[in-house]
Amino acid sequence: MEHVRVDEVDSWTSPASAKRPLSRALGAEDVTINHYELAPGESFAFGYHSHEGQEEVFYVLEGTATFTTGKPRRDAEASSGDAAGENGEVRVAAGEAVRFAPGEWQQGVNGTDERVVALAIGAPAEMGETTILRECADCGERTEQAVQPADENALVTVCEDCGAETARFD
Ligand SMILES: [Zn+2]
Repeated sequence: MEHVRVDEVDSWTSPASAKRPLSRALGAEDVTINHYELAPGESFAFGYHSHEGQEEVFYVLEGTATFTTGKPRRDAEASSGDAAGENGEVRVAAGEAVRFAPGEWQQGVNGTDERVVALAIGAPAEMGETTILRECADCGERTEQAVQPADENALVTVCEDCGAETARFD
């Protein structure tokens, strides 16, 4: 048995004010659980993304998160050729949960003026191929991104096409 207090788990550098890896703190092996706190304008994720091998459930504890959603990759490719085709937005308020299938595109943000607190639960823990898209000003379009350490306390997203830094998180 492992037992932790959420507020005693160290936060990781991420696009959120706090991302606390509960599954790591608990030694969980088959599931990933992160506890997030998002200030207004922040996101759970480094971009619009999909995990090929992992389903994800977000349970909102406080505030309202807005998720941009897309079809599972193979369905999107079959119908339109656009792997990241969007299905629109869904607002998920405190007391509500949302689930994304493996390969389904999504990004959750805090589009409100209030704090968002949520649990993100992913299984299996191994997420498989993850693809992240962000707007690249240099390329003039949304491109695939890599997440890289910038220094000891910061991460950056970098355009896979041209190498430009597209965002910094610290
Ligand atoms: Zn670029």
